[in-house]
Amino acid sequence: MRYAIMSDIHGNYEALQAVIDDVDAVCVEDGVKCDAMWCLGDVVGYGPDPSACVRTIRDMCELSVAGNHDFGASGEVDLNEFSDMARDSLIWTSQQLLPHEIDFLKSRPDRTTMPMPEDITLVHGSPVVPLWEYLLTPEAAALSFISFPTRFCLVGHTHLPTIYLQASAKFNQPRVPVLTAHSRHVMEYGSDEGYDEPTTAQMQVLNNMPPCYAVTNMPHAWWLPDEAERAIINPGSVGQPRDGDSRAAYVIYDTERGFLFRRVGYWIEKTMEKMRDEGFASALIERLGQGY
Ligand SMILES: [Zn+2]
Repeated sequence: MRYAIMSDIHGNYEALQAVIDDVDAVCVEDGVKCDAMWCLGDVVGYGPDPSACVRTIRDMCELSVAGNHDFGASGEVDLNEFSDMARDSLIWTSQQLLPHEIDFLKSRPDRTTMPMPEDITLVHGSPVVPLWEYLLTPEAAALSFISFPTRFCLVGHTHLPTIYLQASAKFNQPRVPVLTAHSRHVMEYGSDEGYDEPTTAQMQVLNNMPPCYAVTNMPHAWWLPDEAERAIINPGSVGQPRDGDSRAAYVIYDTERGFLFRRVGYWIEKTMEKMRDEGFASALIERLGQGY
């Protein structure tokens, strides 16, 4: 089976179309069809085409989960949780969306799991704090590895293509939630309070788990971890990459060959022109060209 995995489209329709065309091109060249597309959230926010992106994801994606911007634009999350620039953009975005598009965003789950044999969890931020956590370090990833039941977990949110690996993993090891129900609620619904410290029982699980590390040289060809390894994989962002490369990023997962990290150039000037026409902040427009 083969799946295209995209995240953080952020209302950038030119980038989304370029990615969909690239999925076709790769699959035609390989002579293998793409069975489904999955979306890891943040379909809207920042970009000039929220409606077109929501409709495309709704029509084309078999699975999709909510991102913080999707819930911000649809009124599920308080806009005070966002930076000024993000909040302004979400107010504009929510005015563009039709009621049925808002309903689609609202109805997204904050995590979903593909059953065996695929054995994959999908979430926007992290399995610990699905909407909000940025997985940026192996230490943060270690907490995540005890918080999902499958071999693989797909995440977005940071806009950075990333792989975290957990060596010699036993998939059926006991999983202890790292956050209490209270602190999870605080993180999801807003407050200045941070995480609770892990409890003694949680620390024991963490101390006994196999080492976790980040892959530093991202693979340029099909890549699959060793059979004993689990992985957290971030495909990067379709519509607003932040790793210094302005091309749209996504991943193809082929259950035989593994994961393929793709970069795709798109008509970036057209997107920027639409943003200028709508009077968007220049910082938002320029970051697209810089890939940051
Ligand atoms: Zn995002």
